[in-house]
Amino acid sequence: MKLIKHFVNGKLYDGASERKSKIFDPSTGEQSGEVILASKKDLNLAVENAKKAFLSWSSKPPLQRARVLFKFKELIEKNSDELTKIIVSEHGKVYEDAKGSLTRGLEVVEYACGIPQLLKGEFTENVGSNVDSWSIRQPLGVCAGITPFNFPAMVPMWMFPMAIACGNTFILKPSEKDPSCSIKLAELFFEAGLPEGVLNVVNGDKEVVDAIIDNKDISAVSFVGSTPIAKYIYENCAKNEKRVQALGGAKNHCVVMPDCDLDQAVNGLMGAAYGSAGERCMAQSVAVAVGDIGDKLVDNLSKKVESLKVGPGMDKKSEMGPLVTKEHLEKVKNYVDIGVKEGAQLVIDGRKLKLQGYEKGFYMGGCLFDHVKKDMRIYKEEIFGPVLSVVRARNFDEALKLVNDHEYGNGVSIFTRDGDTGRTFSSQAKIGMVGINIPIPVPMAFHSFGGWKRSLFGDQHMHGPEGVRFYTKLKTITSRWPSGLRSGPEFVMPTMK
Ligand code: NAD
Repeated sequence: MKLIKHFVNGKLYDGASERKSKIFDPSTGEQSGEVILASKKDLNLAVENAKKAFLSWSSKPPLQRARVLFKFKELIEKNSDELTKIIVSEHGKVYEDAKGSLTRGLEVVEYACGIPQLLKGEFTENVGSNVDSWSIRQPLGVCAGITPFNFPAMVPMWMFPMAIACGNTFILKPSEKDPSCSIKLAELFFEAGLPEGVLNVVNGDKEVVDAIIDNKDISAVSFVGSTPIAKYIYENCAKNEKRVQALGGAKNHCVVMPDCDLDQAVNGLMGAAYGSAGERCMAQSVAVAVGDIGDKLVDNLSKKVESLKVGPGMDKKSEMGPLVTKEHLEKVKNYVDIGVKEGAQLVIDGRKLKLQGYEKGFYMGGCLFDHVKKDMRIYKEEIFGPVLSVVRARNFDEALKLVNDHEYGNGVSIFTRDGDTGRTFSSQAKIGMVGINIPIPVPMAFHSFGGWKRSLFGDQHMHGPEGVRFYTKLKTITSRWPSGLRSGPEFVMPTMK
């Protein structure tokens, strides 16, 4: 059985803790390994190494840092099949989807390769007579990232390539449910020439997260996960004077207007609701059917949900894989029970699905609810599984109000042929990422990713220009050389006359 260790100071590290957590292959339901859960002492040791590494890494010219990133990019491409298989084996999502998520992470590395350009500051000659002023962005020190189970490559790669390109050193605490991909990525980065201690992976649970919050030498924390934990991280990191960005859960709506291309909307919804078994923070879990399109929408969706091909992630025919753990599978099924009790109409029930040869795997079929109401728990809470709720709205204003009144604000999309409707929607939706005829509007690496409301605590989104801002601090320098105008002491605020 595989034993997953930490990666500290350029090598695998056992740590001092005896605590372990089980790792499962969701497609078979069998245990495939164990991960060591770090103690506070292990974390502090990793931070000590990262602090030491910061001294030389932060003073390396950005171009030299970029060259290591270019090598890392090549190694990810070379090892993409192995990395993808690791994701499938511990998360369960289907191979092509896992590969796509790895590519999305790789794109952040590609963006970070441009760090010499991204770190260029601003300069003004003669802010005053013979006085020049310029601003530069400098790294923060040791940064930490705490990541969720659902994107074991992509979400860590939203963080560490940007932080490291900016000159920081990094402690990554991946999800204890699927940690192997982070270890492999750290090994590849080290192989690419990253010095010891610049990227460290410390596995663990709440104990190590609390150690990160308490450690005075960690300057900034990036978190992605559920909203209650995001809030906990945000409040406690701020209390300990750390910079923090904490991305939380979601309940993404898809507004389907009566004038839309229905095939496009239905296909978009199928991928966005059931892809990755709904375990995506940008999954669409609510379809808002506007006007008289509801019956046609539900009819078209139900045929497709019924014929959804559920199977192991490595089977090329599978469109949807298993859920991540048995506990999560039970939680999602329980939400379906709740929806039925609340009076929503369960059009397609995937709870009973069993796969021959994979009876112990964590599978369920897609579920489709109609006539879901806004006071139901299945509407208000994040389910994070293959369950789509259709809510009926009389008109555009009612649909927009649903979107804006919801506590989450990660992503939203609208399907319409009317440009005016699309533009009004994108302007008025209180949501961080909006799609117009695009079901999953995940920004590319050179833009930034983040939600509004209780989907993100903090000021800055992840990767792209916001990533550079988060992982650097601004310094503005004003200078005059002695050959300039000489004057006596000045006791008043200098201003331009
Ligand atoms: P989670 O909140 O359970 O775990 C996230 C991280 O926090 C993990 O590393 C975990 O070890 C740690 N953690 C868990 N409980 C903790 C506790 N009590 N104290 C301290 N640390 C703790 O989330 P998850 O189940 O791994 O991931 C799914 C969630 O992540 C969903 O809510 C999903 O919407 C969200 N998510 C959000 C985004 C986004 O960009 N907004 C992206 C991906 C996932």
